[in-house]
Amino acid sequence: MKKVLILGSTGSIGTQALEIIRNNKDKFRAVGLTGRSRIDVLLAQIREFEPEAVCVGNEEDAKRVKAEFPKVDVHFGESGLVEIASMDCDIVLNALMGISGLAPTYEAISRGRDIALANKETLVAGGEIVTKLCKEKGVKLLPVDSEHSAIFQCLEGNGGSACGRAYAEPETDGIKRDIRRILLTASGGPFRGRTIDEMRNVTIEQALNHPNWSMGSKITIDSATMMNKGLEVIEARWLFDVPADKIDVHVHPESIVHSMVEFMDGSVIAQMGLPDMKIPIGLALDYPSRLNLLPEFSGKNRETDGSLDFFTKGSNLTFEQADRKTFKCLDIAYAAINEGGSAPVVMNGANEELVAMFLAGRIGFTDIADTIERVMGKSSFASPADVKEILEIDKESRRMARELV
Ligand code: NDP
Ligand code: MG
Repeated sequence: MKKVLILGSTGSIGTQALEIIRNNKDKFRAVGLTGRSRIDVLLAQIREFEPEAVCVGNEEDAKRVKAEFPKVDVHFGESGLVEIASMDCDIVLNALMGISGLAPTYEAISRGRDIALANKETLVAGGEIVTKLCKEKGVKLLPVDSEHSAIFQCLEGNGGSACGRAYAEPETDGIKRDIRRILLTASGGPFRGRTIDEMRNVTIEQALNHPNWSMGSKITIDSATMMNKGLEVIEARWLFDVPADKIDVHVHPESIVHSMVEFMDGSVIAQMGLPDMKIPIGLALDYPSRLNLLPEFSGKNRETDGSLDFFTKGSNLTFEQADRKTFKCLDIAYAAINEGGSAPVVMNGANEELVAMFLAGRIGFTDIADTIERVMGKSSFASPADVKEILEIDKESRRMARELV
């Protein structure tokens, strides 16, 4: 029985993970859950899954939870997330949104817990110190992001993750790494093919209307600007220890090929499947085994028994080059990882703040990329030494973004 702590259990990834746990009670137990604004969802989850500990956003909600569930350990706020991250468990699923995921992940790794990582911002902002700590502690960092789960699967047995870690460690697994390129696929989002002018006045609803995936609002906007793919290039750089110039983005509107790896002999290995996050969530939780998910998929408006049907959905797989001039967030992300130091932290902080402002109706869609560029232009990028410094830089870049708007 694997004891699972889910950080962000009320969100899109978190609720899908709980569905997996509900359907696999012999394998997993949810020992810890966290939520912030969706407190009623969290209360229902506590009733059903009976965790030992929970974390909520503020003291008032903590009192409410404690009154109803006196036996449950209740934490709250930013410090509460770090406290709950130190609880006894076998694996921590980090499904938090944004930079809030960094400090608790660092804490869980320092306690030697394996991590199933959905929260890509943790690696964008803290990639260097987080992967270093994973190596020191012998912790597995298992990707949940679908592209990275795909790359992880392509690398298995190919010098990538023979030792059960997402990143390769040639010294320990003894296999020579011979990756030529990582081909990171992207759906292109709802505005694929549009010009910058055509995107200037898009509405929040249009930007939230992702063609293939149903996700939380922040990542959905990131997919529309293609910052999501930029964040994923940086995430892949740290997870697989591959320089950014070996990571190419391929737009693949069908979202069936979740990413590929090209090796030095010209062989390309791809991972495919219907676009459903339960596949990568399940693999990260059950690794190295695979769950029996197909019966579940067949019930959900799927034409088939749940498998990928190559004569319908899988029959037309197309690929095109990413338009990095129009979707300039992608270029900004490449520039940030090449610059190094705190550049990705600054970019990520500004992006989070600006996406929140767009979702609040305070700025236009194209202001997101334009303002990130301006924040980057005004910042210097000394390397942060620890989580505390990263969080300070994050705050400052958000302040600059607000000021520039
Ligand atoms: P959601 O917004 O749906 O869920 C986020 C979760 O984190 C919720 O439980 C939310 O609580 C909680 N949360 C948000 N902000 C804070 C905060 N400041 N402090 C404490 N808790 C907080 O996001 P997703 O599930 O879509 O995404 C989660 C992560 O996974 C992101 O990093 C995203 O990029 C990544 N990811 C998501 C995919 C998807 O399909 N959804 C695919 C690949 C990666 P509450 O809702 O109660 O306020
Ligand atoms: Mg992804």
